[in-house]
This record gives sequence, C-alpha cells and structure tokens, in this order.
Amino acid sequence: MASIASPTLQNEVKGERKSAKRVDIKSAYHTSHPQHPLKSRRGQVPDYADKKCLLCEKGFRQFHLCDVCNYSICSACMRNPPPLNIQCLKTHEHQLHLFSRLIDFTCNACGTQGSRSPYLCPPCNFIIHRECIDLPRVISINRHDHRISYTPHLGHRKLKCRVCRKEVDGFYGAYTCSKCPSFAAHARCATRRDVWDMVEREGTPEEEEIAPYE
Ligand SMILES: [Zn+2]
Ligand SMILES: [Zn+2]
Ligand SMILES: [Zn+2]
Ligand SMILES: [Zn+2]
Ligand SMILES: [Zn+2]
Ligand SMILES: [Zn+2]
Repeated sequence: MASIASPTLQNEVKGERKSAKRVDIKSAYHTSHPQHPLKSRRGQVPDYADKKCLLCEKGFRQFHLCDVCNYSICSACMRNPPPLNIQCLKTHEHQLHLFSRLIDFTCNACGTQGSRSPYLCPPCNFIIHRECIDLPRVISINRHDHRISYTPHLGHRKLKCRVCRKEVDGFYGAYTCSKCPSFAAHARCATRRDVWDMVEREGTPEEEEIAPYE
C-alpha cells in the first residue's frame, strides 16, 4: 500500500509522481480525515459507501475513500480541502469548526436542513451549512424596493417569506427590512440567483439604488 506518513497534500502529489508507472491504488491523507489515508478510486462506488461527496455533496466519478470509516470525498475537495476552522465574525462571534461526517441538522443561519459536514460552534450549539457562512449582510432584491438586512433571529413574528410565501421560522436567520416591519424573506430565498443581484451592499449608501424607483 502506497501510504504516505505525512498528512499533507504536497506529499500526495509527490507520491503520485513517484508511483505514476505503477497501477496500484494511491492513497493519501487529507486534513479533514487525519485518522486514515484515503484511497483514490475511480468508477463504481462500493455499495456501502455514500454516492455523494461527504464534504460538498456533489456526485463523483473519481473519489477518495477511507474504507475503515466509510469516508468518501470528491477530487475537488481532495485537492482543495475546506478549512478545518474558520472565523467569520459577521456570521458568528466565535471560530467555527468543520464537523466532517453525515449528520442531519437544521442550519442556524438559514433554517433549512443539511445532511453532511456542517460547521459547528460547540459552546453555542451553533450549526451552519458551509455555504451559509458568508451570507451577505445587506442586499437589494428584485422583490422589494428597499434594501434588506440579515438578522440571525427573526423573532416571534408570524411572517411569510416575500419570495416563496411560506412562513419564516423566527428561531433561524432571515432577511428583514428596516422600513417595512411586515417584510421577511428566508435566507435561501433572498439569496437565490434570480432574486438577488449577487452584490453585497453593506457599507455603501442606499440613495443610489432608491433613485431608479422614484
Ligand atoms: Zn467534494
Ligand atoms: Zn478513516
Ligand atoms: Zn444554511
Ligand atoms: Zn459560538
Ligand atoms: Zn422563502
Ligand atoms: Zn421595505
């Protein structure tokens, strides 16, 4: 087994070059799973293994598997490991830690379900999708004339999302309008590509966008 002792990707690359002529299963350690080396495989995913990447949830043709723990990730995540720890103060006041395993959870930031590898702040019982870590703070959407801002808790107001018309659960993050107390939008709905122009407006004056509506 071409196992490599050091848990770095640089070593994996060197190892691949050295063994390029051998047709064996390459293996390398990954920062998200330091316990065991991951074996590179192509083609059929073993029956017991998950058919999607544990880290990014994409399907794969080539994958990297720990058959001791049933831990399989895609080549993109193998090459670009997600950070094990991340600090994003606009989302959460403490450092967040990657919890790389299958786990059903409700994301604190967006209120929707996840099935794998969230980031956690254990002291706060805070749990978040990786893709929700940089939800924008202040945005303009095509369903509302004012800017809307992210709030980590909507509170006990029974409000319907202005995008999907379903109720917004006040215990999770959502977008609100400082000028319209009845406005709310789900974090995921407000940041859809057909709703948001993908520009973060925090720190820029609002007048510029108001003008075209007058
Ligand atoms: Zn992946
Ligand atoms: Zn393992
Ligand atoms: Zn989320
Ligand atoms: Zn915390
Ligand atoms: Zn919605
Ligand atoms: Zn408004």
